[in-house]
Amino acid sequence: MGSAALSEAAKSIRDWSITEGRAAQVPSKSVEAYASLVFNDKVQQERLPKPVYRALRGTITRGETLDIATADAVATALKEWACEHGATHYTHWFQPMTGITAEKHDSFLSPTSDGSAITEFRGKELIKGEPDASSFPSGGMRSTFEARGYTAWDPTSPPWLHVTTNSATLVIPTAFVSWTGEALDKKTPLLRSMEAVSKQAVRVLKLFGSTTERVFATCGPEQEYFLIDRNFYFARPDLINAGRTLFGAKPPKGQELEDQYFGTIPQRVLACMADVEFELFKVGVPVKTRHNEVAPSQYEIAPVFEQANVAVDHQMMTMEKLKAIAPKYGLECLLHEKPFAGVNGSGKHNNWSLSDEFGNNLLGPGDTPHENMQFLVFCAAVIRAVDRWQGILRASIASAGNDHRLGANEAPPAILSIFLGDQLTDIFEQLEKGSAKSTKQGGTLDPGVSVLPKLPRDAGDRNRTSPFAFTGNKFEFRAVSSGQNISFPNTALNAAMAESLDYIATELEGTTAKGEELNKAVGKLLTKIIREHKRIIFNGNGYSAEWEKEANKRKLLNLKNTVDALPQLVTKESLQLFDKYKILNERELHARYEIFLENYNKTVNVEGNLMVLMANRYILPSAFEYQKQIGQSVAAVRAGGASSVQGKKLLVLYTKLVDKFKAQTDVLEGILAHAGGSSEKHAKYMRDKVVPAMSKLRELGDRIEELTPHEIWPLPTYREMLFVK
Ligand code: ADP
Ligand code: MG
Repeated sequence: MGSAALSEAAKSIRDWSITEGRAAQVPSKSVEAYASLVFNDKVQQERLPKPVYRALRGTITRGETLDIATADAVATALKEWACEHGATHYTHWFQPMTGITAEKHDSFLSPTSDGSAITEFRGKELIKGEPDASSFPSGGMRSTFEARGYTAWDPTSPPWLHVTTNSATLVIPTAFVSWTGEALDKKTPLLRSMEAVSKQAVRVLKLFGSTTERVFATCGPEQEYFLIDRNFYFARPDLINAGRTLFGAKPPKGQELEDQYFGTIPQRVLACMADVEFELFKVGVPVKTRHNEVAPSQYEIAPVFEQANVAVDHQMMTMEKLKAIAPKYGLECLLHEKPFAGVNGSGKHNNWSLSDEFGNNLLGPGDTPHENMQFLVFCAAVIRAVDRWQGILRASIASAGNDHRLGANEAPPAILSIFLGDQLTDIFEQLEKGSAKSTKQGGTLDPGVSVLPKLPRDAGDRNRTSPFAFTGNKFEFRAVSSGQNISFPNTALNAAMAESLDYIATELEGTTAKGEELNKAVGKLLTKIIREHKRIIFNGNGYSAEWEKEANKRKLLNLKNTVDALPQLVTKESLQLFDKYKILNERELHARYEIFLENYNKTVNVEGNLMVLMANRYILPSAFEYQKQIGQSVAAVRAGGASSVQGKKLLVLYTKLVDKFKAQTDVLEGILAHAGGSSEKHAKYMRDKVVPAMSKLRELGDRIEELTPHEIWPLPTYREMLFVK
């Protein structure tokens, strides 16, 4: 079977190369295509009456409420624009707490009394939709008798057209709330958190003389993913149903030669990437970089950063397009955090910063950061926020899938720490002692070849092992997982920053009101903050065992798995934090905690059951077949008058292994049958009983794979899946 999928894969690659050879052409111009399917600022300006346009901009840039007359006018223009582009339907697109997006399509078409039809779309249909909310997770916030949920238009994220074979649909980004106004989705809390952080940041900026009235969280997420031949995918029930391989022996060649990262992109993969990028361009997603990642068959796509809310929507669209377009090239895109054991998993580096309404980046240090008090204040606010709110940041990225990337056997420790780099560390060390007087400069770098230019040297090297790194003019939250909606990590980050900036603004407003000079007050406060929170700064190797010991000494949290991490969301302090800044009330936050736990439980349960299925229906039948073959061979040799010493030895060894494997399959099945209880109890049981039983079964299964002939092995192997491209 392994071989069957292999020859199918080989065939599909061959077919692809032939058609590719014929079809290869320079693609159409992406500049012209860019945002051609988006109802963006430019289109709005062209198509909306002036007062309507101004009112809409007021909502988008200053958060002003929109009246129904404006909504009606926008709806009309939107419908006309969409219909001109062939749209027949519209949809309120939202992000329920399932982690994926949801949509229900409605036609613009409205029958008239004379038997014909017109197209119609009114303001009230633009601003509000009512999907049946009862089948979306609410974490106990809603009982069935109060199942109403509403989708509400989010004017800050532009509508776009989803064009597929035979259909063009106007997609309207929306928030999803219950009839009591509670957030049932991932967008609402993000929007609330952006308002919270804006309000506090503006207070701080005022002290420095800024006139900005809004501050925006900005975000640029780097998506890592795997692409494998689809024939392999179809032959792996674990990939289909769990998104990752639950069995699979280590291949003789993995990533040890370090020959993947930034390597030449395979042709079929490049064609697929280019297609994805072109489709994303059309819907206004500013994807920018592509490259090979560390693991074989692993890649990355990253956009130019945008306002966090739009960036999150665009990130969801990126994942969806990757998934949807890969099959056109005979490929399957795997977004799971750890599709293959033994090689790197996938993350989503979440680059984050704050920007004022004039577009100034608040985390840009300038050339002499030691004199840039405003920058130092914002940077110190991040240091304080990450230290103080380690728990919620850790919880915001917790999932069964990310457990394989953080705190597990082959993964770095799940400790949050900040990498500042030499230059900033030096400045904060000076501040700790009293005041900062100088900035270390990088100077120039001479490659030693006369034709090559001298390069300006960065003042510090990079560090790939830090979960939260300063990278020149932004922070990069690297522990975020590849498969998740990045909304919640950004919400948590904004919440933590709102609190930190609130603290700073209050302190500085207080001391300056008493007549202290701003620079002096800032200096003192920075010294205080760095003294209290410097334990979170770590510039060394975050993957080392020594760091775990050191972090323990510093009393940093080390929450190794989802079950340990999630309760951080519902501590008294977290509940107060989210409530105080009106991001999530107690019920809303508890609901998320429940949903995340449930999700963990269900994921592990599915994986456990899948392993039992694969053991009984795939692995054991082939193992018994091989057992029989060895037995027959030993008997045949004996009948011929000789004795197969090694054959007998192998038979004994293999039989023992298969027996153990079957016994462990039954153990896992038994353990799964006893799971249950409250979600917390259930989750602990899954972690402590089910997960270890799964690991044990996998070890035995992988050993069997190593001994079983290729022709009768029922599953595509790592060697095939990772290297046939
Ligand atoms: P690297 O892989 O070296 O981290 P990339 O260029 O792949 O760098 O990704 C960097 C990401 O950070 C990009 O998405 C970029 O747009 C984003 N970024 C840059 N500046 C900011 C900012 N001020 N706020 C948020 N994201 C930013
Ligand atoms: Mg990066």
